[in-house]
Amino acid sequence: MNGTPLFNRVALIGFGLIGGSIARAAREQGLAGEITTTARSGKSRARIKELGIVDCVVETNAKAVEDADLVILCVPVGACAEVTQEIAGHLKAGAIVSDVGSVKAAVVRDMAPYLPPGTHFVPAHPVAGTEHSGPDSGFAELFINRWCILTPPDGTDPDAVERLRAFWGALGAKVEIMTADHHDLVLAITSHLPHLIAYTIVGTADELGQVTSSEVMKFSAGGFRDFTRIAASDPIMWRDVFLANKEAVLEMLGTFNEDLSRLTRAIRRGDGEALYEHFSRTRAIRRGIVEIGQDSAAPDFGRPHAQLGKKAE
Ligand code: NAP
Repeated sequence: MNGTPLFNRVALIGFGLIGGSIARAAREQGLAGEITTTARSGKSRARIKELGIVDCVVETNAKAVEDADLVILCVPVGACAEVTQEIAGHLKAGAIVSDVGSVKAAVVRDMAPYLPPGTHFVPAHPVAGTEHSGPDSGFAELFINRWCILTPPDGTDPDAVERLRAFWGALGAKVEIMTADHHDLVLAITSHLPHLIAYTIVGTADELGQVTSSEVMKFSAGGFRDFTRIAASDPIMWRDVFLANKEAVLEMLGTFNEDLSRLTRAIRRGDGEALYEHFSRTRAIRRGIVEIGQDSAAPDFGRPHAQLGKKAE
């Protein structure tokens, strides 16, 4: 354990990839006097106890939040409303309530109405993840150098926002604040659409009867292999993301389809100039991402995180 605790008691509702990573990192950094957690199934709760990372594993969401100064919902977006109703009557006065959902406007809509006066609601989204899930999938380094976006509704107590910002900063994340609607639009293009494309392309190859053929995997190099990894992401989590961020995803899909049609036309017409121009532009974008330190220029197979199967969400 390092540092001074930022919160006396932290409650994590859900202990999968994200909840488990927060617990591991918070423990390593000494950010919580005590960490309490729970999961939906007895099987997961038993496994969390075995792991011995948190101080207390309880049976119900209501019990988990008792006396907690910081409560973080680490459950699929679609479960946030139900969980908030369960915990609302058990929150300590002055508690900060947050989440980690990949969609923000729907989470605010689903949670805010149930939270009692005197608690502080600061929604958050750590933009970091892998395709793995469950109690064993988390790791303390997940958030290092990744963004965590906070989307506090108008009128949120600035002290509560600052305390949560400090918590995420201590977990290793770079914190940015924006509105929930803006978050959803940005993430629709940077995360949600790429996942939809991966789910589509792997499904298409499967329909051609080629995904499992050894030749496809053997010669797939980075491209198709990366798609299969992304398409292995948790089906419940991603079902909820597309249901909750419908409007922004549909808007981005419209633009994407137009661009795809343009490239289709260029291929059909043998318009090499248009293809070259487009690919040069996207190459420059990739170089910009490397320059600002959001990825490495090293080949995938040479990166330590590639071996662990990690990727930015
Ligand atoms: P996960 O590994 O599948 O873990 C989900 C956890 O929530 C499990 O412990 C599950 O319990 C528990 N849970 C589900 N419903 C519950 C309920 N009603 N009450 C209490 N616990 C419940 O999922 P994850 O990847 O950590 O994702 C969690 C959240 O993080 C999602 O909202 C997602 O959008 C967001 N997020 C994910 C990523 C990513 O890359 N995975 C990145 C950033 C943000 P059981 O094990 O018993 O089912």
